[in-house]
Amino acid sequence: MNRYFDYNATTPMSDAARRAWLEATEKHWQNPSSLYRDAGFAKQKLEEARERLATLLGCDAGRIVFTSGATESNNALFASLASKLPANARVAISTIEHPSVREAAHAAFQGRVVRIPVNADGIVEPEAVSEAIAKHTPALVSIMAANNESGALQPLSSIAAICHRADIPFHCDAAQWIGKLPSSSLGLCDYLTGSAHKFGGPKGTGFLVLRDEDEPLHFLRGGPQEADRRAGTENYPAVEAMVTALEELEPRLPSIAREQSSYRDRFVEALRDHFLDLRFISADAERLWNTTLLVMPRHENLKWLTRLSRRGFSISTGSACSSGKEGSSVVVQALGASPEELKRVVRISGGWHHTEADWLALANAFVEVDRELSEGGKPA
Ligand code: PMP
Repeated sequence: MNRYFDYNATTPMSDAARRAWLEATEKHWQNPSSLYRDAGFAKQKLEEARERLATLLGCDAGRIVFTSGATESNNALFASLASKLPANARVAISTIEHPSVREAAHAAFQGRVVRIPVNADGIVEPEAVSEAIAKHTPALVSIMAANNESGALQPLSSIAAICHRADIPFHCDAAQWIGKLPSSSLGLCDYLTGSAHKFGGPKGTGFLVLRDEDEPLHFLRGGPQEADRRAGTENYPAVEAMVTALEELEPRLPSIAREQSSYRDRFVEALRDHFLDLRFISADAERLWNTTLLVMPRHENLKWLTRLSRRGFSISTGSACSSGKEGSSVVVQALGASPEELKRVVRISGGWHHTEADWLALANAFVEVDRELSEGGKPA
């Protein structure tokens, strides 16, 4: 039985990715920038992996810069754009962005970050983007594809179209979308962030897609790697594993989404049968098939988390980036919840291989923990 329900925090490496990583490490461990024949093979494999990723994303390979993950991609983008743009340039981000977008935008653009609100379902409405553009003419709009806490899917193609009509570049942090929903339409974003460990690839690996192949942005200075944009020896084995993980998932995503969302919905029904006043965030919005964000009707979230953990279940309190802080859900805060409600937020995020029995076992465990906590808090 799989009791791990924190796939939005990270995922185990898939078998295909692990095999690809091992083979790449055994056969092509040389420094791709070295000049002898074997290093040339590693370089060639790295460039092939870039082409394969470009095909999956529907963009040109020259636009892809491999990074250490989504946090680096987001930070690098805002920092390098800030160094190129005029000193009064603004950027617009939504109120539910991941801290690696929010903090990076604020650090790079200081008091020049426009915040675009979400509606009651946790969705950035295209009209809100139009308004922000009309009022502030930002130099960049950054809206995530799928929220890491609620799973709410944002109307990307409408938002991208609005930005393009206004000739404003659109950045999308798609760390939670890629590997869960088809990626082929994401190339329409001018800038795109992805992270391997969210879809069965290795940790410490990701990418940023740039607007233009020859865009002169510099993330890390030193050697000429990644077309002079990010210095440092390329991690070909990790890139190979990342691309392999995504290639393996992509064709299966429509059927996985159908099957897994029905299990997730059965789980929610089972919880609703027991907890009559459960608050379910983004219930009416389109969501990732694996994610459910709840405000429990009673007991603080760390109590839920630790008691479920004792039963072998892993869940989280909002996002892992703020875990340990009971009242720190960015989304629930953006929806205007009370501090009291914030302490009762739990996030459940499943994976590609869960069975209906796994989901129902988790629902059962919630009911057991509720009884335990309501009967004076003694563990079973
Ligand atoms: N953006 C989003 C939407 C995320 O969910 C995460 C991971 N929590 C990140 C960025 C950061 O990803 P990484 O761990 O690759 O730095």
